[in-house]
Amino acid sequence: MKVYINGTIHDGQDAKISVLDHGLLYGDGVFEGIRFYRSRVFKLVEHIDRLYESAHTLLLAMPMAKPEMIDAAVRTVAAHGKADGYIRLIVTRGIGKLGLNPHNCTEPQVIIIVDSIALYPPELYETGLEVITIATRRNVAEAINPRIKSLNYLNNVLAKIEALNAGYEEALMLNADGYVAEATGDNVFILKRGVLKTPSIDCGILEGITRAAVIGLARERAIAVAETLLTRHDLYTADECFLTGTAAEIIPVIKIDGRTIGSGKPGPTTLELIKGFRKLTDVDGVEVRPRSG
Ligand code: PMP
Repeated sequence: MKVYINGTIHDGQDAKISVLDHGLLYGDGVFEGIRFYRSRVFKLVEHIDRLYESAHTLLLAMPMAKPEMIDAAVRTVAAHGKADGYIRLIVTRGIGKLGLNPHNCTEPQVIIIVDSIALYPPELYETGLEVITIATRRNVAEAINPRIKSLNYLNNVLAKIEALNAGYEEALMLNADGYVAEATGDNVFILKRGVLKTPSIDCGILEGITRAAVIGLARERAIAVAETLLTRHDLYTADECFLTGTAAEIIPVIKIDGRTIGSGKPGPTTLELIKGFRKLTDVDGVEVRPRSG
């Protein structure tokens, strides 16, 4: 593991931050999870754009411009030295006094962790995942908008705990109105009579970058896409279902709350989109070249 902290790249065990960082004290900060495949950082520009948008709404003044941030991420991946892996890019409000006031913080801290990641066991991509819907609702946009990828992930952590307590790896969260929102760290799609459907952004979800890539892949294949309201009944009666996310990529879902989805096996459209996504990760992305320093 390599960790960039404010311009210096450390080995994992030497990377340290202050206990007075407001990212730790209050979850005051933003982050991104990014993948690199065969020395190409997938959708790096899109992730950096979302990071800066999250920070903008939190009035967190980024300490560097986007090209410098991209360079810092690429440099950390190069120092890590492996062709495939995961980047966790974090910008905290910085070191401050005890007390919420963000104005007491001196300067935002940029932390970039580069390591390997495997979210689900590989066999689940073949067999498909069984999930449940849970009682924990997705945050309402009027409180912490789910579109902001902030360090406040307790809503999702509680949802994950609820899933794990029930014996499931993953769960689907509804929004406060009872419509389907998303999984704890992934977006959700269903296929129904040839139409690919996913909750619209105003359902209160993170605007996933994998979600956008999958919508693009579907349109290229002339598959109709609807960003819409979905109920649990829509999920149960879907022909196919899958989750999307940077870490999870595209993972088929074959059972929801005990209801079998379609044939109970990953469906043909899901498999076609997985194939298309794999191809995309081979060609798309910002290239990492080995460098000294
Ligand atoms: N929803 C939530 C709540 C997430 O945290 C994530 C990212 N892990 C996603 C959806 C998927 O977003 P992306 O495809 O940009 O990784």
